[in-house]
Amino acid sequence: MTQTAQSVDAPRIALLDPAVANQIAAGEVVERPASIVKELLENAIDAGATRLTVRLDDGGKRLVRVTDNGCGMGPEDARLAFARHATSKLRGADDLLGIGTFGFRGEALASILAVAKVTLTTRRAGDEVGLRLHGAGGVDLQAEAVGCAPGTDVQVEDLFFNVPARLKFLRTASTETGRILDLLETLALARPDLHLTLWVGAKKVLDFPPDGDPAARASAVLGPQVARRLHKVHAQGEYGVTALLSEPALHHVGPGQLRILVDGRPVSDRTLQQAVAQAYGTLLERGRYPVGVLWLTCPAGTVDVNVHPAKSEVRFAASGNVFGAVVRAIGAMLAETPWIRTVLPATAPAAIDAARADPVPHRHPGPDPQALLIKTDWRPSAPAPSAPSPQPVPQPPTAPQPQSLPIGDPVAGRWSALRYVGQVGLCYLVCQDDQAMVVIDQHAAHERVLFERFVVGLRAGPLPSQVLLIPQAVPLAPAEVAALGDEVDLLARLGFEVAAAGPRLVRVLAQPVLLRDKDVAPHVRQLAASLVAGGRDGALVERVERHAATLACHAAFRSGDVLHPADVHALLAEMDGVDLSAYCPHGRPVWTRVPFGDIARWFGRP
Ligand code: ADP
Ligand code: MG
Repeated sequence: MTQTAQSVDAPRIALLDPAVANQIAAGEVVERPASIVKELLENAIDAGATRLTVRLDDGGKRLVRVTDNGCGMGPEDARLAFARHATSKLRGADDLLGIGTFGFRGEALASILAVAKVTLTTRRAGDEVGLRLHGAGGVDLQAEAVGCAPGTDVQVEDLFFNVPARLKFLRTASTETGRILDLLETLALARPDLHLTLWVGAKKVLDFPPDGDPAARASAVLGPQVARRLHKVHAQGEYGVTALLSEPALHHVGPGQLRILVDGRPVSDRTLQQAVAQAYGTLLERGRYPVGVLWLTCPAGTVDVNVHPAKSEVRFAASGNVFGAVVRAIGAMLAETPWIRTVLPATAPAAIDAARADPVPHRHPGPDPQALLIKTDWRPSAPAPSAPSPQPVPQPPTAPQPQSLPIGDPVAGRWSALRYVGQVGLCYLVCQDDQAMVVIDQHAAHERVLFERFVVGLRAGPLPSQVLLIPQAVPLAPAEVAALGDEVDLLARLGFEVAAAGPRLVRVLAQPVLLRDKDVAPHVRQLAASLVAGGRDGALVERVERHAATLACHAAFRSGDVLHPADVHALLAEMDGVDLSAYCPHGRPVWTRVPFGDIARWFGRP
């Protein structure tokens, strides 16, 4: 808080005409601590701040504090700022389409004050003294003159202290903090020019100094591991489509890791998410999305940000054009298959070998790239017909053909015959047979096994279900609650029993046994979201199978799970019973095999 942004003069505030106020999408502004952070950050940005600091205590439930170096407010405006429909950003309905600022409904501060204890301290750079206003639960504000840095500091304490019923919907501090982290990261991607800092208790957990380059910021936010696997998309037509998106082998269930910014505004817009998914097409399994960032810029007046109370969805004047522009731009990147060049990292032994032996890096005599390639149309080849063998590996040692991957051929006893060496990267199971190292992705493998089990199980009837001792409440959007209500049959087949408990709440009474101790809430949320997003198409059987895939994904070991050798042996044994080739027409490989001959060549052995 050393400097104040000078570019924005403190605008005067006026009450909105009630007619205009009503035109503006209404809705609860304050749902959870993250909504408060969002509103306060938006206000700070609208005030021209360049340095924004967020502090949290107890996931924001005890304290959310946002400090900015923006234009501040004069005493009159500061008081008026807490009046409902007071805004300095909008005067008439005509402004709604062209709105360039984030906030515009003039109800955030009023709503926050209604459900928490608020202390706002503010000073314009030119004023001698600042003003501190304090109020709680919407009642009278007390004011005092104070000395303070230019800019605004808003402290929101004891959220929902006066509405205990709402307090129940808040999750654990770490979950709420997670949402806020996510929000800050998205903002960091939207605005590399801002200096953003997040403190959780006494710990500084995020610090993004200003950076002019979106790609550099993306790497700071997503981490170098991910950033390395992102590819640039850039197309400028009617719409500007710029993106950094992952190679198809790096993806995520649901669009949660795909950040979308429309004219710098973070949105979670279905149309755009679907456009990205469509561009990847069969390179990704259904329900999976790439990781990365999409920046879309639109001609003025063609986008309406006023359809969602939290402004996270937008409406396009010509959504078909937007959709097409995004699909084409990303499609062009994918058509170049740039990810193939990144599969052999520069530090891999292969590259060292290549540098020594061959100036053309892609035609080196190192390990056969096919053996390491993360192929997107991946499918294990059948074993060479000339090599029938009772051994786990049917290939003769004299003619190693890494492309002809013998495991995965549906012959019983293969996987369980592997010798398990150990787990690496908390995600990969390293095994070996007599001729090769075999590396298995624990999540992908388990997911396939479970999917198979679900599909077989579902043909026989509903999946076994387990009644929860304490029904679990899952807050959802009203449309999602309704969609679940319409799909009682589908849910029963999957082993769920879900009851609506309000317009925005369901209770899970029973869950599939296969989910065991896994948290059921994320699954129910995803199920509901996919039903709303058109997952209701098709016959019941088809829909059930589609959701079985999601269920398998949730129930499977995750990357990061430490597996006991006994778990691994059980998994390998189960893999024997599954025709793995049948379930990976696209998407990620489950395993890869590196013949010892290739490893020998890494080390320059003949
Ligand atoms: P909105 O942002 O929709 O206008 P808010 O209730 O969020 O409504 O804020 C009301 C008004 O208070 C804003 O229009 C703005 O003039 C003023 N304001 C709020 N926060 C700040 C801030 N951090 N710095 C300067 N002015 C602010
Ligand atoms: Mg606002």
